[in-house]
Amino acid sequence: GSKFRVPASTRIIAIANQKGGVGKTTTAVNIAAALAQGGLNVLVVDDDPQGNASTALGARRDENVATLYDVLVGNVTMRDAMQPTEKLENLFVVPSSINLSLVDVELADQDDRMTRLRDTLREGLAATAAEGAPFDYVFIDCPPSMSLLPINALIAAKEVLIPVQTEYYALEGLTQLLHTIEGASASHNPELRVSTILLTMSSKNTNLSAEVAENVRDYFPEQTLETEIPRSVRIAESPSYGETVITFAPRSSGAIAYLAAAHELANRAE
Ligand code: ADP
Ligand code: MG
Repeated sequence: GSKFRVPASTRIIAIANQKGGVGKTTTAVNIAAALAQGGLNVLVVDDDPQGNASTALGARRDENVATLYDVLVGNVTMRDAMQPTEKLENLFVVPSSINLSLVDVELADQDDRMTRLRDTLREGLAATAAEGAPFDYVFIDCPPSMSLLPINALIAAKEVLIPVQTEYYALEGLTQLLHTIEGASASHNPELRVSTILLTMSSKNTNLSAEVAENVRDYFPEQTLETEIPRSVRIAESPSYGETVITFAPRSSGAIAYLAAAHELANRAE
């Protein structure tokens, strides 16, 4: 059986923050891997042209591989673009490719340009459910921008998880992000909510890190997970092996922290 609570319906979580380098991708792949290792069926949608989540999950990315770009422009179905990962059999990825950065321009004239991810994902989830293996979790890894790609993610998702790096300017920019989330919610997705905030790259021995963490907890008392992700060399080096820290260094402080974060996320009501 699963070590985690199985949600009643698929939890679709956009991992968003328009700031780069705050731990979005690291959080997406490692929480996904933790839940998959615990027996749940998990999908990561790599919604960033940089493709870091695809790399971290060891996705196949040769020319013939179907990617999120192909899905969004209508060449293939979402189901067709789902690949199993090598390390964890319950973990799947829809990989990104560099041409994903073209969708802003290529879809500019399309009326449904903001809802394509939602609609194709719905179809993909229905297809996998019909095959008898419904996904429990979908994580959409957003790029550090507020273009069409993250907008699509915020319209496709039911929840937003915001990784916040414990550094001086952490809270600046969150206001803008919250506005964008409200906009997506108001126009297309009334049930969307910021369910989770995760403090990343914290260091126990700096006052600044602790102070920022406290500030974030004051602003978002309900949403902020108890668990903080520490800075960890193992976390930083696992992607270069095409692995998450969960499988690469399961006993490291980073893996233990991401497992704890996954437990907290799963134990909260969806
Ligand atoms: P984003 O997706 O928000 O741009 P990433 O997840 O790619 O951020 O993280 C940015 C960089 O920091 C990456 O090189 C990543 O490996 C590294 N990193 C992320 N989290 C940690 C951590 N807890 N400890 C050490 N390095 C980390
Ligand atoms: Mg990223």
